[in-house]
Amino acid sequence: MSEQTSTLLILGGSYAGVSTAHYLLKHVIPKLPSPASYQVVLVSASSQGICRPGCPRAIISDDMFPQDKFFVSIPPLFEQYPAGRFRFVHAAVTELGHRSRTVSVRSMTDNTTETIPYHSLVIATGASTSSPLFGLNQSDSNELKKHWTSFRDALLQAKSIVIAGGGPTGVETASELGEHLNGAPGWFCRSTPKVSITLVASTPEILPILRPTIGRKAEDLLRKVGVKVVKGVRVADIKPLQTLEKLCSPTTVTLDDGRTLEADIYIPATGFTPNTNFIPESLLAKDKRVEVNMSTLRVDKAGERVYALGDVAGSFRASVPNIAAGVPVLCANMKRDLLHAAGEEPAGEDLIFKEDRRETQLVPIGKSSGVGAVYGWQVPGWFVWMVKGKDYFLGMLEAYWTGKQFAKEL
Ligand SMILES: Cc1cc2nc3c(=O)[nH]c(=O)nc-3n(C[C@H](O)[C@H](O)[C@H](O)COP(=O)(O)OP(=O)(O)OC[C@H]3O[C@@H](n4cnc5c(N)ncnc54)[C@H](O)[C@@H]3O)c2cc1C
Repeated sequence: MSEQTSTLLILGGSYAGVSTAHYLLKHVIPKLPSPASYQVVLVSASSQGICRPGCPRAIISDDMFPQDKFFVSIPPLFEQYPAGRFRFVHAAVTELGHRSRTVSVRSMTDNTTETIPYHSLVIATGASTSSPLFGLNQSDSNELKKHWTSFRDALLQAKSIVIAGGGPTGVETASELGEHLNGAPGWFCRSTPKVSITLVASTPEILPILRPTIGRKAEDLLRKVGVKVVKGVRVADIKPLQTLEKLCSPTTVTLDDGRTLEADIYIPATGFTPNTNFIPESLLAKDKRVEVNMSTLRVDKAGERVYALGDVAGSFRASVPNIAAGVPVLCANMKRDLLHAAGEEPAGEDLIFKEDRRETQLVPIGKSSGVGAVYGWQVPGWFVWMVKGKDYFLGMLEAYWTGKQFAKEL
């Protein structure tokens, strides 16, 4: 690496971060004056990406997915590019100094620290789920596997499970556990489920992004795998409080209407916390996500050439296709900014990101059906099964990891 190398720094090694890295390496750096003077540096707390949509099924057993496809090692994905053009740093970001244009990181392997100056910065550190069973959150895939082991041990003995959250994560988890523990729906399905599974939703119907009739259909399907749905109430309290060490111990769940439920396993599947604890407050919105210009994907307050994408950013809707739509916009605008910084005047105008907010969500229920809508059109159960339920997008997501999804420039 020469003294003058300009670092295009990306924080977070999941769909947003890895996709942006591929796009910059394929379509942006080769078109800059002196490409060899740029290096993409990707910092991530996990050296592996995961098929996050598959977590509701993957938590049950390693037999649910081929593990070498579910967990994808990041560094080899970038061996396809010229030597020196990419560096992976397996570390947690601890501080963003947007005035000094540096990022401090702590190595996940030996705890050493490093300060990385950047020429451009992409914040793509995503968001953590309340339960550590559903993603990498801010740590390594080994941690996730440890949590799955505790959960699976507890599952062997469990007679009652309470899941809080009527969104797709809660519904999918309830249905996967229902089918696994109580059997597939059918003529011979039990009238009394072997394991009592209760899904608690604060909304009047489950799956509130979809129209109410679809939510009610999901409820019927859940009933067939032994899941009881309690709607319009919130979990007010749980005792004892859940800790990472005691993830799956007996819990008393108190609802805000005064009812209590006893659970051998309690799974919170509610909401996200943005992974922004290393970012100055002045760059964050009230909900702790990065305050990004949702048209250009620039973080205007952070100085030149700073961008954010994915679950960490603004009002970005949490979905992989949404990230796929944002990557070319962010990278095209970064290309313009980099050309400008290199003394060239970029042609044309900024690309503008327009999020697709039409009713779209696919929710498998059990291993052969599901509910959902695509761009406002309700789709049948077999379609949900074919498109998502079969492998929870495991096959489709490969193109994101390898960069094939972005073979062409937008
Ligand atoms: C259970 C579940 C099911 C889902 N199902 C679907 C679905 O069916 N379809 C769909 O389109 N979307 C689905 N989503 C949403 C989708 O997974 C997210 O939109 C997507 O993962 C967001 O990607 P991201 O790159 O923004 O961040 P994330 O996937 O959250 O990844 C963030 C990355 O940043 C790293 N990181 C975090 N903090 C730091 C730090 N301080 N330092 C360094 N690295 C850090 C993490 O280790 C991780 O690698 C689902 C989400 C969940 C939780």
